[in-house]
Amino acid sequence: MTEPHPGFKCPTCADWVAPGAPFRPFCSERCKMTDLGHWLAGRYKIPARDDDEDTTDLVLPRPPELPPAADDDDDAR
Ligand SMILES: [Zn+2]
Repeated sequence: MTEPHPGFKCPTCADWVAPGAPFRPFCSERCKMTDLGHWLAGRYKIPARDDDEDTTDLVLPRPPELPPAADDDDDAR
């Protein structure tokens, strides 16, 4: 007797996901982030909605300039 599995299939690894899994429809946070990475890399051409200001978080500004590392002094001497 084959019972249908009460859950989803993870879009990333095709493993079964329990109905109450915290990262549905993904089996784990890792698969969720993996799928998100693929989405951002391959399908980021979807126009953002004007009212979705959260998209600004995706454009990371250059990191603040860090002071010269003290380790560089090893080469200067
Ligand atoms: Zn998975």
